[in-house]
Amino acid sequence: MRRERRIKIIATLGPASSTPEMCAALFNAGVDVFRINMSHTQREDLPAKVAMLRGLEKEFRRPVGILADLQGPKLRVGPFGGDGAVMLEKDARFILDADPAPGTVKRVHLPHPEILTALEPGHHLILDDGKIRLVVEKASPKQAVTRVIVGGKLSSRKGVSLPDTTIPVSAMTDKDRSDAEAAAEIGVDWIAASFVQRPEDMADLRKVVRGRALALAKIEKPQAVARLEEIIEASDAIMVARGDLGVEMPIEKVPGTQKRMTRMARRMGKPVVVATQMLESMITAPVPTRAEVSDVATAVFEGADAVMLSAESAAGQYPIEAVTMMNRIAEEVESESIYRSILESQKAEPEATGADAIAKAAHEIADALHLRAIAAWTSSGSTALRIARERPNSTVIALTPNAATARRLTLVWGVHSVVTKDASDIDDMAFRACKFSVREGFAKEGDRLIVVAGVPFGTPGATNMVRIAFVAKEHVEQA
Ligand code: PGA
Ligand code: MN
Repeated sequence: MRRERRIKIIATLGPASSTPEMCAALFNAGVDVFRINMSHTQREDLPAKVAMLRGLEKEFRRPVGILADLQGPKLRVGPFGGDGAVMLEKDARFILDADPAPGTVKRVHLPHPEILTALEPGHHLILDDGKIRLVVEKASPKQAVTRVIVGGKLSSRKGVSLPDTTIPVSAMTDKDRSDAEAAAEIGVDWIAASFVQRPEDMADLRKVVRGRALALAKIEKPQAVARLEEIIEASDAIMVARGDLGVEMPIEKVPGTQKRMTRMARRMGKPVVVATQMLESMITAPVPTRAEVSDVATAVFEGADAVMLSAESAAGQYPIEAVTMMNRIAEEVESESIYRSILESQKAEPEATGADAIAKAAHEIADALHLRAIAAWTSSGSTALRIARERPNSTVIALTPNAATARRLTLVWGVHSVVTKDASDIDDMAFRACKFSVREGFAKEGDRLIVVAGVPFGTPGATNMVRIAFVAKEHVEQA
């Protein structure tokens, strides 16, 4: 089984996608990576979910990616008395304080002392996903006196966003640490940190994960956008998390930010995921809006590594239709005549390393000879990543002895992974590259393909070989 597109599809699991049959149908429709949202998943349920997804690998004989998404420090106000809600009028005074007593129309508990300490006059608070806005007039560690800019009904335990305040805590809460440990131990491929603010947040995640999974930074705070390059440097991938980003910064700034983030991640050779509300109306309708189709297409044209479905696949009425639609949009955009030129215009120059020089050479040879596949022997996945960074016309077939590498690469643009035992020598590398290209449907007898490897195989960062291999009768017979 192989996909006809380069960009990957991530689908979030939820009540609408909880059975093995549904997940199989979603995979069949085009899902490459499943996201388990730890905001809505009990830690005890992780092993069963992961086992179910690994079951798909046996059924389809393809690697399946699993991304565990940590809840992060989602801030909330305390409870209100009475019927659990108050009406905040525009221009009224409203106090957030350290007193756990039930809230009134004048005040409410903010059960995060470190936030009260960090607030300063002029800082904004956005409540309930953007519905209510407050501005701080006076601040002390005991209370913040605010004025209501946009009023409305505020009920118990609604979320609070702080676009101006750098929160002096790690993006990892105690729950996140326990969840990350459980996810790493059970063998998920990617772990995402939410509400990342600084590169140190990613270091905190890595300390827990200790190489058992790759670390993805969700960029959903302006503080993270401000330090984007350092955060990408500290991460294995990033997500343009437009849901919270659109609450924390003016919504009209999100599209430009998305483009800048995608370009920077591509330049740095780190996968970038575009997420949230991509086909939102398909939660309740079998067809998307024109605007949504355009939005998915934009991410494909930008050369993002993956697009993500959230509630569409987790809780919607049409999860399979949503994946099918995303798949169709991606295939169509990628076959557009102007797709290549848009993609090429953003192409990153190679860095001065052997791996990049060879990635560029492989791309050029494949173009000159119109070859469909570049086969890369890779143990950590880094050779395949650097070739994917070139965004070549040819599919990158990653040949790896590590099942974990194959699974991690499911998130990466244009990579089709095959798990196979270690190669013994260069001839063996070329032979199996041809054999698997035939088996996986990327080549036939008489075709040529590019083989890239580091020799001796298995030394990380030692990419030093590029070769043109001919597909012969024996490869077809053994495929
Ligand atoms: P979430 O993250 O779905 O976990 O909130 C994505 C986003 O905020 O866009
Ligand atoms: Mn979010």
